[in-house]
Amino acid sequence: MTFREALLNGLAPDGGLYMPLSIPAADADEIEAFRHMKYHEVAYGILRHWIVNEIEEQSLRKICKEAYDFEVPVEESGSKCHILRLDRGPTASFKDFAARMMGRIMQYFLADEKRNITILTATSGDTGSAVANAFHGLNNIDTVILFPSEEVTALQRKQMTTLAGNVRVIAINGKFDDCQKLVKKAFRDPRLAQIPLSSANSINIGRLLPQAVYYFYAWSRISSKSGESAIFSVPSGNFGNLMGGLIAREMGLPVKKFIISTNSNNEVPVYLKTGIYQKISPSLNCISSAMNVGHPGNLPRIIALYRGVMDHEGKIIREPDLVRMRKDFYPVSITDEETRETIRKSYLESGVILEPHGAVAWAGMQRYLSNCLPEELANKIFIVLETAHPAKFSEEIGKLLSVEPSVPSQLESILKKREEYIMLENNYDIFRDFILKNYN
Ligand SMILES: *Cc1c(COP(=O)(O)O)cnc(C)c1O
Repeated sequence: MTFREALLNGLAPDGGLYMPLSIPAADADEIEAFRHMKYHEVAYGILRHWIVNEIEEQSLRKICKEAYDFEVPVEESGSKCHILRLDRGPTASFKDFAARMMGRIMQYFLADEKRNITILTATSGDTGSAVANAFHGLNNIDTVILFPSEEVTALQRKQMTTLAGNVRVIAINGKFDDCQKLVKKAFRDPRLAQIPLSSANSINIGRLLPQAVYYFYAWSRISSKSGESAIFSVPSGNFGNLMGGLIAREMGLPVKKFIISTNSNNEVPVYLKTGIYQKISPSLNCISSAMNVGHPGNLPRIIALYRGVMDHEGKIIREPDLVRMRKDFYPVSITDEETRETIRKSYLESGVILEPHGAVAWAGMQRYLSNCLPEELANKIFIVLETAHPAKFSEEIGKLLSVEPSVPSQLESILKKREEYIMLENNYDIFRDFILKNYN
């Protein structure tokens, strides 16, 4: 099917994930040229490979420019590593990158077809706020967001619940995985078939493509010569971010390795080490809360990229090429204690303020650097992805450091606004009735 259809459907009719049949290549000259471009121009340069046949060139350029009107700093850290700060969007999370692009492209297609859709999204905090903000005020789109009532910070909640309009927010008395189950079930429920539902989760293919862009961008700011290999440390939960990186590599970005940095929800690192996949249910509560995922939604895609097959439940139907996966990935699981220690150390030693998710990635990178052979380090660049603004975790950081991160203006104004959301039990029938009553 076309990109348009996959984007608007979200999930395939059998509940499976959409995968591109083939991945287009960006040639070396194009990648070189990114060095002289702004972020939104790089975004256009990558996305056009995927969708220029479906969106007019000028419209796509305009969408990229509007979506990416904030800075994307790539900081030197004093040590070997650079930090790619993906935290300057309206909700101060890297999820703004995907959500803002996806919302605008959806609106473009829907306006063209003169129809509406209802987006259902489960969030562990940051997706919901990014989607809510990106979709708020768009035409042709209603948005329903489910979050685990006890697992998001007050600020994350307020970023979703103070918008109103076409954005409705539901607190579920359960965990993120429960929210995701309710959403997945709704998509497969014949009784909801007459409602045009779609997803904006990291399982939507439209979320992944924009997440390939910043890997190219980071490389283009740092590398000093053509073809220089990068090693990225990616703080991972649902594995959409990593999937974006893999798409970038498949498109031609020179990447030597991805460090898969997880918190104690270490089902993927364990799988890569042992070859045995066992989801963690319920997922463990760690301070890097957006990564508290016991069975990553994008894992079947990664397995598929390595020629394996994994079903919904995490059962491996066909083994992927584990040998190649072990070469391409360096998996690390970081405990909360190590995360806190990393926030302290990176500030004291390098003056870098990290929040828990970025700290997991930083710790993953440090572990790789101290364990790999010296020849592996030659002619490489090292990039740690920081996925949220430290001010979103100032309580935790305040306990660890003598300084508190300064609050960016887009966050400050939210704190004063009025909240509006409803609470529902973790029960599918109740959820379905709610959807039928409000969106039929
Ligand atoms: C969502 C999120 C992650 C994890 O990204 P995935 O694509 O789900 O692996 C990491 N950090 C932050 C701050 C997030 O919001």
